[in-house]
Amino acid sequence: MRAPSVPDRARALREQIERLDYAYYVLDAPEVPDAEYDRLLRELQQLEELHPELRSADSPTQRVAGAVRADLQPATHAVPMLSLNNALDDAETEAFDARVRAILGASLPKYCCELKFDGLAISLRFRDGVFERAATRGDGAVGEDVTDNVRTIRSVPLRLRHRAPELLEVRGEVLMFRRDFERLNAHQREQGNKEFANPRNAAAGSLRQLDAAVTAQRRLHFFAYGIAAADTASIDGDGGPASQWLLLDWLQQLGLPVCEHRAVVQGIGGLRGFYERIAQQRDGLPYEIDGVVFKVDSFAEQQRLGSLARAPRWAVARKFPPREALTRLLDIEVQVGRTGALTPVARLAPVVVGGVVVSSATLHNEDEIRRKDIRIGDTVAVRRAGDVIPEVIAVLPERRPHDAREFVFPCNCPVCGSAVVRGEDEAVARCSGGLICPAQRKQALLHFAGRRALDIDGLGEKLVDQLVDSGLVTHPAGLFELNQQVLPGARSHGREVRRQIARRDRARALDEPGTVHIRSRHPPCGRGYGARPGAPFQALPGLCGRRRNRAAAGERHRSGGRALDTPVLRGAAQSQGDRLLAA
Ligand SMILES: [Zn+2]
Repeated sequence: MRAPSVPDRARALREQIERLDYAYYVLDAPEVPDAEYDRLLRELQQLEELHPELRSADSPTQRVAGAVRADLQPATHAVPMLSLNNALDDAETEAFDARVRAILGASLPKYCCELKFDGLAISLRFRDGVFERAATRGDGAVGEDVTDNVRTIRSVPLRLRHRAPELLEVRGEVLMFRRDFERLNAHQREQGNKEFANPRNAAAGSLRQLDAAVTAQRRLHFFAYGIAAADTASIDGDGGPASQWLLLDWLQQLGLPVCEHRAVVQGIGGLRGFYERIAQQRDGLPYEIDGVVFKVDSFAEQQRLGSLARAPRWAVARKFPPREALTRLLDIEVQVGRTGALTPVARLAPVVVGGVVVSSATLHNEDEIRRKDIRIGDTVAVRRAGDVIPEVIAVLPERRPHDAREFVFPCNCPVCGSAVVRGEDEAVARCSGGLICPAQRKQALLHFAGRRALDIDGLGEKLVDQLVDSGLVTHPAGLFELNQQVLPGARSHGREVRRQIARRDRARALDEPGTVHIRSRHPPCGRGYGARPGAPFQALPGLCGRRRNRAAAGERHRSGGRALDTPVLRGAAQSQGDRLLAA
């Protein structure tokens, strides 16, 4: 296929970005993750920089994205609401700092650092200290009037405290806390309504309501972080705050909520430090942020730096690595857990999310797949937050290929073929095979080896997986039949097995990795074992070795003053296994 010409590519990008803007800002239904949008916008910006003749006045790069919903009243901003330039990595932060230093001629500029809330930018107008109007950013020049809706947000004061200026436009962010978002989505699910993709869209959808009563039911929060630039000059002349840091204090004194996570730092080192610190705290915050904001602190210096068409030169948003990415769903597999629960798992074309390559993601359960209408072959949005298992959060139906297949949940366990059962009001389907099912056999063995049963040190998940997967053990009692067998395919875990064994018997440490040393009919446990150090049997790893080193050897297996020996343990294993099989 021939690559498209540069003008064609620029046109295609423009059209695509406009369509995405409309879906995002007007319909509150984003079609792609932010990272994908940013990527497209950047590509267009770069094309226009290389080919300035392609830059038209109506290009999305020339305005702050946003459009006004026709059924909400337009609200003109006296001072345009600009957005911020992004820095996606350290190098771009350094470039920002270098530009600031060059223009200011300062070696260590002072910066005010704040959080970048993942919410909806908003402008609040107060006249004589009384709340008068609220407007969304819209296209930066004209937004939507959401006064009645904002009035329902508890954290927005309807009257300012302290001595407020005659006219004040406060800029800030409306957002929804995570717990409120989860509650809202649970409610939407119950009512059979569409769920929101993320807290930001939930906040936007809640704020841009025609009925303020609906907004009132959704718990929204507000944080103030600035005022319209023209006001800065007027309050400054009045002995008001002379820097961003002091402004935040001042806003707080007026009774406006200001986020506590902020700092004044110096130079690039200070910027990096703040970014790292907040990145660490990110998952513990009650709301979503997608980065941090660095602003030159002094208003006088901000004025010297000035603004470009789209954004001020004195500030930058340092973004975190995106937690969402688009990729293709190659297949859906069903995994059987040790409890017999069947979980559908998405096999994905590998993609970097949150700085890590992701090639599979959970789909939770059958209902989830239906609700999201996920099909094999779809382009899906994948999310990975913190250490949580990646999940498929949405599909892009407009990118669905013709041959996309619907997923059919299996009636039989993919591991053992037993019937799959699902309780009436249960979301989870389960294999009915019990111990017949190797997946559940593992659970039984682990239980058997666990601290509350035999307390076999070293018989952990990996070894159990190997014993069951290789077919060496099909029943807990089978552990006692094992004898120096080599586990096929145990190479990958060989080191671990060897380590476990070596801990107990130095001589055996020379063995091949993956060898299991378990011998039956030896009655070592709890009796006489300590008297025979280095005895020629290795028994179940830990079953005996552990006891050997324990003064209280046999304490758990003593019954009526007599130590239990292997035949007794074996009997217990047999009956436990039989019980599980019968269940
Ligand atoms: Zn099964």
